[in-house]
Amino acid sequence: MADTSLMDKLVSLCKRRGFVFQSSEIYGGLGSVWDYGPLGVELKKNVKDRWWNAMVHAREDIEGLDAAILMHPKVWEASGHVAGFTDPLVDCRHCKNRFRADDPRIKGTPGQPDAQCPACGTRGSLTEPRMFNLMFKTFMGPVEDSAAVVYLRPETAQGIYVNYLNVLQSSRQRIPFGIAQIGKAFRNEITPGNFIFRTREFEQMEMQFFVQPGTDSEWFEKWREWRMDWHCSLGLTPAKLQWHQHAGSELAHYARAAFDVQYQFPFGWQEIEGIHNRGDFDLSRHQEYSGKKLEYFDQARNQRYLPYIVETSAGADRVTLTLLVDAYREEEVEGELRVVLGLHPGVAPIKAGVFPLVKKDGMPELATTLYHDLRKHFSCFYDDSGAIGRRYRRMDEAGTPYGVTIDGETQANQSVTIRHRDTMLQERIGLSQVALYLRDKLKVAA
Ligand code: ATP
Repeated sequence: MADTSLMDKLVSLCKRRGFVFQSSEIYGGLGSVWDYGPLGVELKKNVKDRWWNAMVHAREDIEGLDAAILMHPKVWEASGHVAGFTDPLVDCRHCKNRFRADDPRIKGTPGQPDAQCPACGTRGSLTEPRMFNLMFKTFMGPVEDSAAVVYLRPETAQGIYVNYLNVLQSSRQRIPFGIAQIGKAFRNEITPGNFIFRTREFEQMEMQFFVQPGTDSEWFEKWREWRMDWHCSLGLTPAKLQWHQHAGSELAHYARAAFDVQYQFPFGWQEIEGIHNRGDFDLSRHQEYSGKKLEYFDQARNQRYLPYIVETSAGADRVTLTLLVDAYREEEVEGELRVVLGLHPGVAPIKAGVFPLVKKDGMPELATTLYHDLRKHFSCFYDDSGAIGRRYRRMDEAGTPYGVTIDGETQANQSVTIRHRDTMLQERIGLSQVALYLRDKLKVAA
């Protein structure tokens, strides 16, 4: 299977099965903005829930936060986004397409006669690069003037920094401690693409860990290990995950050290999460711009200091895409193509399908009762239309790990068939055991 066709197949499966739709499709779509359908919203919610559980519920030293998307415009001056959150942009005077100046498809130097437009192939038509700020601007209140400008946040982290003292004081945490947040972020990307990999509206799962200066490198290493473990716990193929270290000019202005977790997508190794040692850059800038003291008083050491910050920053949409790419496989079964999403049961949008073999002999009644019982515990899907093999295939494409079939024997001896997505093996268990059996399986996989 050619790699580029994998993305095309995935986009089409996502639409067909209700994972992801293009935004405003009936109007021709909106560039690089996507909507999540019934299965996609469950899959992404499972990703976010697992992150929240690992970060907030399972740890005593991390608190949750949900800050607003709109923030005081000075936040973005302090953070460096107004001055520096820019990409170099070039236009093609001939075909009017726009590119990032560092687009690897551009041959030659933009602005010079030798430069060739990657879209129309014209030579000398690319403009000199100019800087383009990626923040979306809007106006607050009825007057649309420069005094009323506010931004849609390009990252969730700043909401954490400006609330760090509020959280510290109200939760009675002590350093080292962290604040975790999941929320929307917006970037007016010049060259978005690769489906939900790079979009203009996306969700981030960010955690900022506040530590005593001098202990930052040690915490940085711990967080690197924990975050890689978390990605592996989603069932991703370990050989397709790697670290990429930022060095030299790649290192952002705020970072003392930075590593990306990368996944091997069909379009190359790409970042899915960044782990950054930000030092005291953020708090010292907010202290300077707000005029408010943001120091921490360490009672045990009788010391005042600005904490250093270790950040873990992942994209919920990117992790969702990674799961879909990693799970997609095609097999030939008895001369027919079987498309399977081998999703980890813990993230699968539907945990079990329930099927009466035929629509008679009391089978639909038994199956409906079982379905309603199972729904109390986890997400299920009832399907009584078409041949049983087709129903199994539909669930394979949706990534549903288990199928439960009520057949002629169920009435007679109170047993059902459990069908396993990955192996296609079937086993018989007692009807009254199904809920317990599936709950056990899902618990082990959790
Ligand atoms: P990139 O180099 O891919 O633009 P970045 O280094 O700017 O990413 P960060 O600012 O570190 O990314 O953001 C942290 C995480 O947020 C990324 O690892 C990614 O998962 C997610 N993310 C960033 N930009 C986008 C986007 N435009 N669409 C979807 N997810 C994004």
